[in-house]
Amino acid sequence: MSAAVTIEERTADPTLVQREVEAVERIKRARATLGDDVVVLGHHYQRDEVVQFADIQGDSYQLSKEGALVKAKYIVFAGVHFMAESAVILGRDDQVVILPNMNAGCSMADMANLEQVMTAWAELEEVLGSATEERVMPVTYMNSAANLKGFVGQYGGTVCTSSNARGALEWAFALREKVFFFPDQHLGRNTGKRMGIPLEEMVLWNPFKPYGGLTDEQILNARVILWQGHCSVHQQFRPEHVDLWRKNHDDVQVIVHPECMMDVVDKADLVGSTSYIVKVIDAAPAGSKFAVGTEVHLVNRIKNRNPDKFVTLLSPFSCLCSTMYRITPLDLANVLERLVAGEVVNQIHVPADVKANALVALNNMLAIPDNQKVILGD
Ligand code: SF4
Repeated sequence: MSAAVTIEERTADPTLVQREVEAVERIKRARATLGDDVVVLGHHYQRDEVVQFADIQGDSYQLSKEGALVKAKYIVFAGVHFMAESAVILGRDDQVVILPNMNAGCSMADMANLEQVMTAWAELEEVLGSATEERVMPVTYMNSAANLKGFVGQYGGTVCTSSNARGALEWAFALREKVFFFPDQHLGRNTGKRMGIPLEEMVLWNPFKPYGGLTDEQILNARVILWQGHCSVHQQFRPEHVDLWRKNHDDVQVIVHPECMMDVVDKADLVGSTSYIVKVIDAAPAGSKFAVGTEVHLVNRIKNRNPDKFVTLLSPFSCLCSTMYRITPLDLANVLERLVAGEVVNQIHVPADVKANALVALNNMLAIPDNQKVILGD
């Protein structure tokens, strides 16, 4: 597989193409030397030139779980920062988690930092009183920093994935009257709406305004308080893209990720996690047509694997996870060769107290009944 280097990258560094081609051989050599000591995990959204070296490919929770089960000491996570942190939290104490490029973050996870969330919680306490902890359940999406998962665990809350968000909200409402959901407003709103919660009872918390920009009355009446965060990739899908495909193809099925905005999700035929999207399209009969609302690398991979079906990106734009794209074959070659030389670089650390609290939140998620079957939209 050849390296995909953009025209801009090639212009900035004419040697890049050759170096990326050479990196493929360097990775192969290093992997052969390291053998079972290393496992490479590749997220569904990772570019092909990197994901081709993944021993396991999947979504972030699945990868972190499976990484902990292999005997490898070194987990090289070709994903983004919060995913590598999750692998540390779920991994064994003797495992070392490495992110090939420390600049591979997640813009959504960065939209809710611990300081902002603690300020918001203190403001909620001012409005709701000292019983806030008994009234409000914090729920964080897997796509959040480790310290935020720790905060949620500290207050008795749970983590959720795009597969089990509905189960997580049902669990939360069985215990408390309100849910504080972060960082993805769209996953929270789409899930709440399908549970029959009126939109006026789901308010948006703007972290840049005092009290989230909400009145006391709005906070008191809210059932779900949604953090004002979003995925910059999934937010690019628009309702007019759905209209266009429907206008030109009667028989196309629109399948989208629940990180897409509500107006898109409402118009879609099917809604679910990356694993759900993969499963549905792979299992569809030959001749099926799908317009898919998720990251372009995954869509292209599904398309290539299903030549007997029509599979296309829902948007006319590329919808690329640009932060995950920062990991190149050169980065992978570098961290693996350093391991061969006995040197660990780009290790991801999670402090013990944060890990312990985050595990409380993750264990609460595991207690959600039958959580893998709770798909948002079907
Ligand atoms: S696709 Fe969106 S949520 Fe997923 S890693 Fe990229 S920016 Fe974060």
